[in-house]
Amino acid sequence: MIITGEIGRSVDVRSPFFEFVRSVGLFRVGRYIQRDSGKLLILCYHGISKADEHLWRPTLYMPRSLFRQRLQTLRDFGYQVLPLATALERLQAQSLSGLTVSITFDDGWHDFYSEAWPELSAFGYPATVYQTTYYSQYQKPIFDTACSYLLWKGRGQTLRDSKITGTEQAFKLDSPASIKCAFAAIGSRLHKLRASAEDKDRLLAKLAARLKVDFGQMLSSRLLHLMNPSEIAEVSKGGIDIQLHTHRHQLPLEKEAFLGEIQRNRKLIEAATGKCAHHFCYPNGDYRPEFPAWLREAGVISATTCEPGIASRQSESMLLPRVTDSTTVSQARFESWLSGVGWLASACKRKALSLSGRQRADAGENAPISNVQEQVGTAAASAVTRAFEGH
Ligand SMILES: [Zn+2]
Repeated sequence: MIITGEIGRSVDVRSPFFEFVRSVGLFRVGRYIQRDSGKLLILCYHGISKADEHLWRPTLYMPRSLFRQRLQTLRDFGYQVLPLATALERLQAQSLSGLTVSITFDDGWHDFYSEAWPELSAFGYPATVYQTTYYSQYQKPIFDTACSYLLWKGRGQTLRDSKITGTEQAFKLDSPASIKCAFAAIGSRLHKLRASAEDKDRLLAKLAARLKVDFGQMLSSRLLHLMNPSEIAEVSKGGIDIQLHTHRHQLPLEKEAFLGEIQRNRKLIEAATGKCAHHFCYPNGDYRPEFPAWLREAGVISATTCEPGIASRQSESMLLPRVTDSTTVSQARFESWLSGVGWLASACKRKALSLSGRQRADAGENAPISNVQEQVGTAAASAVTRAFEGH
């Protein structure tokens, strides 16, 4: 399948290699071998499109029909989908049996409430939502995300408005690079003005009008909004686990501020759900060596990253691996994760890259040794960073 993402960029989401591996039955063999491995696959999702978000950010969004297909795959392959806390307890107790998955969603977007939750409910599957809370309280579209989306919606047009961009320069919105330039100019202007959240909202409305995008429709459909506290309470009552993701989607490097982010986030989540929140997900997938100890001090008992992998009893509970599913992941690739063949292929590729790096180093080239996991993790993390920059 070929989808068209940002302007001028098509994404081919076929995986000929994994399609071949599946066709010769190796996925089935992999699932059979894995059935008693006692390992846990933690799936990570961000957004399920209300409209065309998967065309704008295919690495973060997927259409609802594709999400339904993934859930059906889990059912067809006989996976048990466990709540994250239960799965982690059993992982540690070495009592996981069969093929096991936990489903997680980052950020707590309104599309979880409107698109993902109904699908999960239809399958009777539990999920954990790592909820960031600033924009849950402040019910407006998340500025950076909405600004980027509006510029994408206005593709093909020329933006020339100094009251929006702070410059007389004309930005022809015909490539990802020019959209990025317009986005940077807007950000720079707002930074200079020390713009408030209300100023940013006014600018979004102005930008939408300039690019002839129906901003009223975006607001009424809650596009690019987070769930509000009553929606969080409702999904929690319906069995969805709401957990920590910081208040403002950031992790300060100073310990007191770091702990403050967790405390504020936890207070608001617990007020909405009436339940304890002590599982955590690193915003942007970023972490530093000191963070696990700080999280333990804050009463956190598990933390997930964006490092791809499958969790085992040996995994560090504050650095649990997850795989990020999106429109850019082919069905064959998704099934390779489930069968374990994907991890084997990644390990072989890493080994090959490592060996070729060593050979280059031996040849005096001093070339860096590539690390596929790091590359993928960084890509996922930077995609999320882009979604929240600077709010
Ligand atoms: Zn996030």
